[in-house]
Amino acid sequence: MSLFDSEDFAEHEQVVFCRDGCSGLSAIIAIHDTTLGPAVGGCRMRRYAFEDDAIRDALRLSRAMTYKNAMAELPLGGGKSVILGDPSSDKSEALLRAFGRCVDALGGRYVVAEDMGIGVRDIEIVARETRHVAGVSNRGGAGGDPSPFTAQGVLIGMRVAVEHRLGRSALDGLRVAVQGVGAVGAHLCRLLHEENAELIVADRNPAAAAAAVAAFGARAVHPEDLLAEEMDVFAPCALGGVLDDAATCALRASIVAGAANNQLAQPKHGDRLAERGVLFVPDYVINAGGMLNVAAELAGDYEPDAVMESIAAIAERLRGILREADAKGVAPFRIADARVREKLDAARLGRSAPDAECGTR
Ligand code: NAD
Repeated sequence: MSLFDSEDFAEHEQVVFCRDGCSGLSAIIAIHDTTLGPAVGGCRMRRYAFEDDAIRDALRLSRAMTYKNAMAELPLGGGKSVILGDPSSDKSEALLRAFGRCVDALGGRYVVAEDMGIGVRDIEIVARETRHVAGVSNRGGAGGDPSPFTAQGVLIGMRVAVEHRLGRSALDGLRVAVQGVGAVGAHLCRLLHEENAELIVADRNPAAAAAAVAAFGARAVHPEDLLAEEMDVFAPCALGGVLDDAATCALRASIVAGAANNQLAQPKHGDRLAERGVLFVPDYVINAGGMLNVAAELAGDYEPDAVMESIAAIAERLRGILREADAKGVAPFRIADARVREKLDAARLGRSAPDAECGTR
């Protein structure tokens, strides 16, 4: 099957395959949609079993960025990049600089920030080759590491979901299972610990789980055993696609609210959760905190208090989606998706289209 026919190809504007023989770089940059502005999204570095998995990740993640940025009312489009390789052994300055040159060649159509396997220091190296970066450091008007802001937004979303689904105004005493205690997951654990939630954590990296046990009194379980735990809230903060056939049957939670992008393996899994009475909070609605921080940096008027205010607005946005979902009797992610599509269609209509037939694609 060709790339254009794959189910993950959702009218992406541009997909760039990058190679640099000297540094060993193999990367894919996917620009999904620039209707609302330049495509912004993180770079993920991962060892993929098959190249098709990397392409799929880039396509799905870049589309998710379009939805996230539009939902957060940002003047930004959606893009994402993946570097194929093990971040612990394959990453080098030469590789990151080669990647920076690939980003630069796109002339600002794509702006890169951090994601799994790529941290602030890596982006600072990328920035030696291109100015189209965000989240470089927290000096001189830059926003720094987006992950604490992402965690803050997820916490806000979780509070709203708990109020809506469980009728409780606070998280204290609730059992929250955090899958993945990396950059975002660890910050989320800290915030939940401050709210006296009971924490269960699982991470493929035993040291990361052990750190959450030591710092936040969490109970660590093996990653494969996490879904069998009794919990009030499941917070996926590792990879996407975790809500698949098996997980949607096994899950023993009232709410799913986490940071991971593309948590639903397929839309049908969101419907299945709704049928089972599990409130799945659309990931891109509540994991936009880091992006809001990045957007403030890009706008050139970085002001931490204003960023926190924009993250606080996630609460009202989510309440509106949950109310509409209840009124229509559909899963909240269906409402969120429809709102984004309407927004994009309206923006496309507002643009002068050289070919009237393509103006409302
Ligand atoms: P990270 O790489 O810092 O952390 C991910 C953690 O998940 C790692 O500790 C890893 O060992 C663990 N992990 C991987 N597979 C696992 C599994 N099967 N079970 C349990 N643990 C597993 O990444 P991050 O920046 O914290 O991002 C986490 C997720 O949130 C990703 O899906 C990312 O795309 C998404 N996200 C991140 C941000 C951000 O600001 N960093 C913003 C929005 C969305």
